[in-house]
Formats: sequence, structure tokens, C-alpha cells
Amino acid sequence: MKLYFASGNLHKKMEMENLLGGEITLTLPKDEGIFFDPDENGSSFVENAIIKAKALYDIVKAPVLSDDSGLCVKALNWGPGIHTARFGDTEEKKLNSREKYMLLLEEMEGVEDREAYFTCALCLYLSPTRIYVIQEEAKGKIALSPSEGTEGFGYDPVFFSDEAGRIVADLEKGEKGKYSHRGKAARVMYDLIKKEIEK
Ligand code: IMP
Repeated sequence: MKLYFASGNLHKKMEMENLLGGEITLTLPKDEGIFFDPDENGSSFVENAIIKAKALYDIVKAPVLSDDSGLCVKALNWGPGIHTARFGDTEEKKLNSREKYMLLLEEMEGVEDREAYFTCALCLYLSPTRIYVIQEEAKGKIALSPSEGTEGFGYDPVFFSDEAGRIVADLEKGEKGKYSHRGKAARVMYDLIKKEIEK
């Protein structure tokens, strides 16, 4: 089964392929020269995952997987949430990953309660009448300073995973998926995709 991945984020794609056991190759829109930049105007991770999956399905007319994820921080009123990818961006300047998590640490200066969680909503859009959505979370805390570890991407250098007992960027290669929001959702998704392939 050819499965499109409704994203432009290579890190996410690589993580997802590994989480799906390396058995399923995901095709990005840009791999086929498709311009893909849907308006993610939903009010939840689930809505945005469906918006992305449907937008790509409408172009390719073939099964699509999408991932909408983000970081929710108690001290920021559970933001940036669905706006995580654009956190700190302005019209003039888009921040890179490091600038984003350094800004987060700046906003958290002096905050004692550092509770946070990552969420991941996955949508498997097989056709307009067959749609599956899974949402999972991974609980943790915002670290006081960034780690120099290199595992993961995005905010992983400043996210302490409660389950792993470590900052995610400091985990061993391939270990992140055991504890991550994406890993938990992908394990359920894997079973679903397998069933579709075996049909
Ligand atoms: P979106 O799902 O493309 O809207 O973007 C979600 C944003 O959340 C990404 O750009 C990352 O900055 C962040 N994010 C999502 N998942 C992770 C993760 O596993 N680790 C660190 N940051 C993540």
C-alpha cells in the first residue's frame, strides 16, 4: 500500500517510518513535486490532523497519514498547543527550533510548576467514508536549561519525559518512541495499517 504523509517535516517523517517498523515507506507531497500548505485552522489537534489528511487526499486520491502534534505547557495556559509550530514567529521573522525552545525557557523563567505534555493526533484517511483518528500524549516537564543531546527534534532538548525520567534529547537512539506521544499513537496506527495491507 502506498501511503502519503501529509507533512513537510522530514524529522516527523523519519520518526514515523521508524515507528511503523521500517515496513511502510511514506511519501511526502514534495517527493512528487506537490505543493502542500493547507490552512490548519482547526481548533484542536484532531481537527488539524483531519484537515491535513483530507487536503492531501483531495489531491492524490490515495491513502494518507497525517500527524498534528504540539507542546502544551501549564504555565502558558496549556499553550502553545496547536500553535506550537509557529511559536514566537512574526511576519518578519520565523524562529528556528533552537530559538523557539530558548524563547520558551525565557517565558518560563522563575516558573516553578513546569508541568507540560506533548500531544500527537494521527489521522489515517483511506477515503472520505473511511477515516481513523488516534490521539495520544506524553507527560513531562519543561527543563530549566536545554540539553546538548541530539535525539529527536523540535522541543526535545527542553522536554523532560516523566516516563523516561530523562530529557528526550538525551535518550538513546530509537528510545524516544517508547515514551513519546507519537510512539504511543503510532503503535495503534501500525495495527490499523497492517490490517489494511493484509485485506
Ligand atoms: P505541526 O504538527 O506540523 O503543526 O507541528 C508541531 C510542532 O510541534 C513541530 O514543529 C515541533 O516543533 C513540535 N513537536 C511535535 N512533535 C514533537 C516532538 O516529538 N518533539 C519535539 N517537538 C515536537
